[in-house]
Amino acid sequence: MAIKMERIVQRYYEELENGKIMGRKCPACGAIQFPPRIACTSCGNFEQEWIEMSGNAMLTDITLPSRMTGPSTEVFQPFVMGCFEMEGSELNGILRNISSEEAEGLKERLPLPVKACIFQIENMKTVVFELV
Ligand SMILES: [Zn+2]
Repeated sequence: MAIKMERIVQRYYEELENGKIMGRKCPACGAIQFPPRIACTSCGNFEQEWIEMSGNAMLTDITLPSRMTGPSTEVFQPFVMGCFEMEGSELNGILRNISSEEAEGLKERLPLPVKACIFQIENMKTVVFELV
């Protein structure tokens, strides 16, 4: 099981290098998992198909404070943490180009449309969100 999850994670990062944000779709119930998981969170099915995500998402909540520990998050500044809903999947992530002060004003307007973007950190890529 652990080896299979490693392969899923590896494929996910390989696709990011190709500029594709991939999720996994359950052929049994149609639920989409993002980030990819080993099994469907709706029905538990282990057979999942890779799909390219549209990147369209909604920001549903903002979590302050924005500072995570460690220097690795410096590259994202300014940013806050947010809760996102993307094609039926809920996840926590980074909302870029928003300061803590700006985030306070945004909270009253939630949910807001956002776009998932591929962001380069040193020698790897990750997915962050930006306001549309
Ligand atoms: Zn399912």
